[in-house]
Amino acid sequence: MGRAFVYVIVGGGVAAGYAAHEFVKRGVSHGELCIVSEEPVAPYERPALSKGYLLPEVCDLTSCSCGVQLLHCLPSFHCCVGANEEKLTPKWYKEHGIELILGTQVKSADLKRKTLLTATGETISYKFLIVATGARALKLEEFGVNGLDADNVCYLRDLADANKLVDVMKSCGGGNAVVIGGGYIGMECAASLVINKLNVAMVFPEAHCMARLFTPKIASYYEEFYESKGVKFIKGTMLSSFDFNSDGKVTAVNLKDGNKLPADMVVVGIGIRPNTSLFEGQLTMDKGGIKVNGQMQSSNSSVYAVGDVAAFPVKIFGETRRLEHVDSARKSARHAVAAIVEPDKTGEFNYLPFFYSRVFTLVTLSGSFLEGGTKEQYEAIAQATRLKPAIQDSAELEKQGLGFALTL
Ligand code: FAD
Ligand code: NDP
Repeated sequence: MGRAFVYVIVGGGVAAGYAAHEFVKRGVSHGELCIVSEEPVAPYERPALSKGYLLPEVCDLTSCSCGVQLLHCLPSFHCCVGANEEKLTPKWYKEHGIELILGTQVKSADLKRKTLLTATGETISYKFLIVATGARALKLEEFGVNGLDADNVCYLRDLADANKLVDVMKSCGGGNAVVIGGGYIGMECAASLVINKLNVAMVFPEAHCMARLFTPKIASYYEEFYESKGVKFIKGTMLSSFDFNSDGKVTAVNLKDGNKLPADMVVVGIGIRPNTSLFEGQLTMDKGGIKVNGQMQSSNSSVYAVGDVAAFPVKIFGETRRLEHVDSARKSARHAVAAIVEPDKTGEFNYLPFFYSRVFTLVTLSGSFLEGGTKEQYEAIAQATRLKPAIQDSAELEKQGLGFALTL
């Protein structure tokens, strides 16, 4: 059994949705494009899963960190609502003649023959392949801790994870939640758990939350804010094991420093690994992902990679990096489609990752962090980051805050 398409996208997350939108904008013909996705739903804005989706009693508009208004359940957050563009429901794909093969894992890829083999035994051939397989959540087992199968241990990467998390939260109202990991998932889930009236303890090995992104000063602002909401931080240690009851549920978290935390539920956010296994040995890898050039083209000229799985040249850093953020997934996907459809008119992907804070201690503006800004503020801060202006007086910069960027 086999089908042939001009363009095939493997993976049906954020990048796949934006790539499909770009193909349609550029006039793809009916029957030319196919998306194969393990998930049972059409591409959606994954960031919604750790925001409004975890607040089930709030059936109102709620705000995503990308500054976008999203309703809290599907179909409200299908791509491309996160970029204030049209919502691509399954009907949209049908109307544009795009084949959506959902709930179907691609088991292997043969890049020489230009074919994919699915778990249902179907062979799908392509002329151009876009790899948009994203990433998987790292599991505790990979650190030698058992507990993956426990009903009350939750991860958060896809809709099924989010549904489990919501159900477990509902069943533990007023109880104790332990959050493992002080990164994005840990911080966002801790906030939702508090709103769902659980007592929250966060455990992570570093000296402060968001250690790879925040300076100690920014982190202490966030930690104090979280503490004011009742979150307890247990830093500089890791979990060593769980205690289980006779039903196999976790009842306590044992830490390496010898402490024991009671737990009615556990949320784990300890990072991700890109889904590259289909292409190991067939494509050049870098930074844990698929290495691509400024056209998002891999070492095989018919194969492009986008989103979390792609390691691409980031001009401002002068090196290849893999980014794990939604804006990069959206823009890299659009760029790859442009490069495939109009290679002569498409330049190098020039992506600017940027953050902003009102607290600056550096003498030269080397990065910026902005939470919940307007479109104008984002544009101003992006411009400031590109210009890297010399700062004479960091106290003055701290006083001016965002106003500094707006004057450049
Ligand atoms: P994904 O969106 O992960 O999509 C990958 C898709 O490929 C999935 O559908 C997967 O099932 C499928 N797939 C994988 N392997 C196969 C296979 N073999 N066969 C078929 N299908 C396959 N970023 C931000 O910038 N801001 C945020 O606020 C933010 N919030 C987030 C909240 C959560 C809960 C999570 C998990 C991530 C968040 N991110 C956020 C990160 C952002 O969602 C990712 O950077 C983005 O989703 C990457 O898009 P992608 O298309 O590369 O991968
Ligand atoms: P992150 O990489 O952001 O953070 C993982 C955290 O867990 C780090 O602090 C890490 O420490 C710590 N950690 C690693 N191993 C252990 C361990 N064994 N025990 C305890 N802590 C540990 O990953 P997340 O899981 O938080 O997020 C997953 C993905 O989702 C990322 O790609 C992220 O970009 C994305 N996301 C983005 C959001 C946003 O942009 N707003 C929101 C939600 C998710 P160390 O640094 O020392 O490794």
